[in-house]
Amino acid sequence: MSNRTVYLETFGCQMNELDSELVQGQLEALGYRFTEDDARADIVLYNTCSVREQAENKAMSRVGVISQRKREGSAVILGVLGCMAERDGRDMIRRHPQIDLMCGPSELDRLPMLLDNVSRARLSEHAQRLSLDERVALAGKRSRRSKALAAAEDSLEILDLSRAFNPDLDAKSGGRSAYVRITRGCNKFCTYCVVPNTRGAEVHRPPDEIVEECRQLAERGVIEVTLLGQTVNHYRYTHGTALAEGGREVAQVGPSLNAFRTGRFENPNGRATTFADLLQRIHDEVPGIQRLRFVTSYPRDFGDDILEVIAGSPRICPYLHVPAQSGSNRMLKLMNRGYTIEEYYEFIDRAVRLVPDVSIAGDIIVGFPGESDNDFAATVELLRSVPFKNNFIFKYSPRPDTAAITRFEDDVPDEVKRERNNILLAVQAEVSEAVHARWVGRKVDVLVEQVSKRDQHRVPNAAAASPHPGSVALTTEGRALRAPESATKELSGDASPSFAMPSIQLSGRTAGDLITFFDSPAGIDPTSLIGTIQKVRIHESGVLSLNGSLTRGHERRS
Ligand code: SAM
Ligand code: SF4
Repeated sequence: MSNRTVYLETFGCQMNELDSELVQGQLEALGYRFTEDDARADIVLYNTCSVREQAENKAMSRVGVISQRKREGSAVILGVLGCMAERDGRDMIRRHPQIDLMCGPSELDRLPMLLDNVSRARLSEHAQRLSLDERVALAGKRSRRSKALAAAEDSLEILDLSRAFNPDLDAKSGGRSAYVRITRGCNKFCTYCVVPNTRGAEVHRPPDEIVEECRQLAERGVIEVTLLGQTVNHYRYTHGTALAEGGREVAQVGPSLNAFRTGRFENPNGRATTFADLLQRIHDEVPGIQRLRFVTSYPRDFGDDILEVIAGSPRICPYLHVPAQSGSNRMLKLMNRGYTIEEYYEFIDRAVRLVPDVSIAGDIIVGFPGESDNDFAATVELLRSVPFKNNFIFKYSPRPDTAAITRFEDDVPDEVKRERNNILLAVQAEVSEAVHARWVGRKVDVLVEQVSKRDQHRVPNAAAASPHPGSVALTTEGRALRAPESATKELSGDASPSFAMPSIQLSGRTAGDLITFFDSPAGIDPTSLIGTIQKVRIHESGVLSLNGSLTRGHERRS
C-alpha cells in the first residue's frame, strides 16, 4: 500500500472526467491520498485532451510549471495521462525529460504499475535506468488492429466496473450523479477528429454489466446516471458471439460508419441489445435511477424506437445532445459526417413530435477548411431553425494525424473564424432566450446541485457541501432522513425550522438540462437540499438560465 499524495487535474470532456474518477478510485484503493494543492503532492497527474490545440496548450503549460519545479530540485513525480499522451506518443517524454510517466486512455488500468516502477526506481536511485516500457503505457496502433484483439484485451472493463463497487468514492451532485460508460472509442472517423486515433476502436460494453453498474450506483444513493459514448445511439450488443470464460459476455467492437450507410440498423432475430433496449432495461430494472441521461447522440440512425422509449419512460430525461457541426451539406461531406442537413432537420422534427418538451443541444465547428460565406449562412439558418437550448461553438483546430489536416488547407483566416464564432454566439443567445422563455409559468423538477456561486460566501463550506449517500440530512419538517431515501423530499406548508438560516440561492438542472435558480426556504439548511429533486415554479427566464421558487408539495414527472 502506498501512502503518497496525488494531485490530479482533468482537461476536456465528460469521458475524461469519468476516466479521472476511475483513476482516483483505483489509486485510493491502493492507499494513495488525493489533494487539491499541486504544491503539496508527491505525484502530479494531468489527464489531457487532444480534441483542440487550445486544450493541449493549456495542459503543456501546466507540465512546464511542474517541470521548472523539478529542475529547481522538487522530487515530485510528473505523469501525463489521456489523449495527448496517446497522440504525441513517446516523443513527448523525449522532448520533455521531466515527465516521469505517460499513460494513454485505453491503458489506465496499468497506471498503478507505472507509478510503482517510477517510485521504486527513485528509491533505489536507478530512475535514469528505467526503460521507456517501464514508464510508458500507450495503445499505439494496437487498439485498432483486430476485433478479437481489442475485445480480448479489454481489461479496462474491470476499471469501469471497479468504480461501482468502491464504497468510498464520492460522485457528483452530492454523491447523487454519476457517469456510466456504454461504449469506448469511435469508428466514425470524422475528418477533423483525433478521437478514433487516441481512444481506439469503438467497443460496446455488455448490457448486463452496464445495468449492474447502474444498480450498484443506485444502491449507493446515486439518482442520476449519464450514459457516455461518442455516438450512444449506435450502441448495439450482439448476443451469442464472443463469450469469455464461464459464459460471461465481453465487450464487442462496433461497426464503422459504412455499416450505417445502407439504411435502417437491423436487429435480426432480436439477438442484439439496441440502444433503445438498453435504455428500457436500465429504466425498468433500476428504478432508483430517477434521471437517466445520455451523451453524445449521432444525428443519423436515431430511430423512432429510441424516441418512443424516451417519451414513454418517466425517468429518462427528454434531453438530446446531438451535434450537427455545420448547416452546409458541402461541409458535412468534407467532415465525413455521413448525413445531410435535410436528414438532420428530419430527425429534429421527429424528436420534437415524439418526445414532449424535448430539449436539444449541439456542437458546431466554424471555419472548417473551405467554409464559404454561403456555407456559414447555412449554419446560421440551422441555429435559427432548431430550438437549440445551447450549442457549443468551436473554431476549427487542425489536429495532427487527422484526414482533414492531410487533405485540406486550413484556409479560413483566424479573424474570420473568430467573427463567425461571435455571430453564432449572438444568434444562439437569442435562440436560447426564446427556449428558456417557454418555461415561464410552468412547474419543473430540479435536481439541486449546489449553493449558487452568488451565495457561496454566505454558507460555510458551501462549495464542498455534498451529503454523501448514507449520510443524514434534515427535511423541512426537521425530520432526519438517510440520504438515499430522501432523494425526493416533500416540503410541507407547516415546516418547523430546525435552526435559524437565511434564505440562500440554490442551483440545479431540470430534466431537460436547463440551469435553474431558486431560494431555499428560510430556516432550512440549504445544503440539505443538495442532491434532491425539488418542484420549482418558474417566474423568470434569461439566456442561460431559469429563475423560480419552490412549490409546496412534490410531484414526480409522469
Ligand atoms: N462524438 C461526438 C460527435 O460526433 O458529435 C463529439 C465528440 S468531440 C470530442 C466533441 C466536439 O469537439 C465535437 O462535436 C466537435 O464539435 C468538436 N471538435 C472535435 N474536433 C475538433 C477540431 N479539430 N476542431 C474544432 N472542434 C472540434
Ligand atoms: Fe470524433 Fe466523429 Fe467520433 Fe464524434 S463521431 S468522436 S466527432 S470521429
